[in-house]
Amino acid sequence: MSEKQIQEESKIPYKIYLEENEIPKQWYNVRADMKNKPAPLLNPGTLEPMTAEELSGVFCEELVKQELDENTAYIDIPQEIQDFYKMYRPAPLVRAYCLEKKLGTPAKIYYKFEGNNTSGSHKLNSAIAQAYYAKKQGLKGVTTETGAGQWGTALSMACAYFELDCKVYMVKVSYEQKPFRREVMRTYGASVTPSPSETTNVGRKILAEHPGTTGSLGCAISEAVEVATSNEGYRYVLGSVLNQVLLHQSVIGLETKAALDKYNITPDIIIGCAGGGSNLGGLVSPFMGEKLRGEKDYRIIAVEPASCPSFTRGVYAYDFCDTGKICPLAKMYTLGSGFIPSPNHAGGLRFHGMSSTLSQLYHDGYMEAVSVEQTSVFEAATQFARVEGILPAPESSHAIKVAIDEAMKCKETGEEKTIVFGLTGTGYFDMVAYEKFNNGEMSDYIPTDEDLKASIDALPKVNK
Ligand SMILES: *Cc1c(COP(=O)(O)O)cnc(C)c1O
Repeated sequence: MSEKQIQEESKIPYKIYLEENEIPKQWYNVRADMKNKPAPLLNPGTLEPMTAEELSGVFCEELVKQELDENTAYIDIPQEIQDFYKMYRPAPLVRAYCLEKKLGTPAKIYYKFEGNNTSGSHKLNSAIAQAYYAKKQGLKGVTTETGAGQWGTALSMACAYFELDCKVYMVKVSYEQKPFRREVMRTYGASVTPSPSETTNVGRKILAEHPGTTGSLGCAISEAVEVATSNEGYRYVLGSVLNQVLLHQSVIGLETKAALDKYNITPDIIIGCAGGGSNLGGLVSPFMGEKLRGEKDYRIIAVEPASCPSFTRGVYAYDFCDTGKICPLAKMYTLGSGFIPSPNHAGGLRFHGMSSTLSQLYHDGYMEAVSVEQTSVFEAATQFARVEGILPAPESSHAIKVAIDEAMKCKETGEEKTIVFGLTGTGYFDMVAYEKFNNGEMSDYIPTDEDLKASIDALPKVNK
């Protein structure tokens, strides 16, 4: 390192904060810069692309527009949403000096911390936007699913703010493991039902076919959609996967880029955990935009659990987003909508498919993906918590694991790479998982090829 570099280096604070007026005023829509656009959603009955009118039966009108808009690069963030963002944003970009020292790596590690709000995750960035548009449309309320509980919590906070009714279908295994999450949602006024449940046709059908199932995001989505479409004045909202959610989450990446630019820092590697792809998509969007326009190059890595490996072991095909097969079909990397992952503790990553935007980008070689086993994820989480202080969510810890792996590679080669990863949330409600890990009782379930073949063979036959 030159004298000048050392001087500049020492100027980088532990936390790079932006000013309030530097919070983005527009979201960035990465689809505008993609040559190969993500494939359209298909009507499950006709297998033709879903029209705006059809989508409006399920989703709020303005969100349908955002879902279908693949050409507008920047979309204004309404003032009310900007004002709400000011309550908990800008989120800090932290230089992990303590972790670097502990690892003895020459790599420079940064993380964007999205856990600084009561929902404990990045989900609030999209929840507040979706609740705003529902309110603006004059709806009575919204329905949704939640896996680990972060999305349900974020949405109940947003609905409380705009005085909307909020009905949450919570994956049964999480409902039982995380009673306090449920109580937070109820405190914000939401009703919470464990899924699959007896309250919907599709829930009863799933229970009949899989008695004793602990549920999955795919099941909970089916139930929430059924309730939205059969109740006047209700629409369904989704916390991940959709294009509109990636759009709202671009606030993460835009802030990250603005903070890095302040100190002329260019990342070499950007890492995020991937469930449905919203935090990763949001974090990488502006960087991906530069990559797509040929201005810069970055290594972008998606990290998924070995128990639910959509990118690394799934197929790129049209599939249902839900187990009950009532939702539109999306073209995505998928394990098949019939795949019910083992009860992994990273509930937010237990979805059989992946954002169609990220799927297209992955398919076109713009990003990489790796899968990691649960025990190694908790080892990384513990290592991180002990030096950086924050108790990370199990989901976020997937990104930590790979950030540490990449930093250790730098230790071997002596390279001073700059690594940025998304620390999507905190793990206070995941203490059952930490307890299992601390007691040495955590398992690393990995589906066999046969497990996957069964659900992949059952994919709908679509010639598109
Ligand atoms: C929901 C969630 C995730 C995964 O969802 P994505 O849509 O893939 O971002 C990751 N981390 C946390 C803390 C979550 O709540």
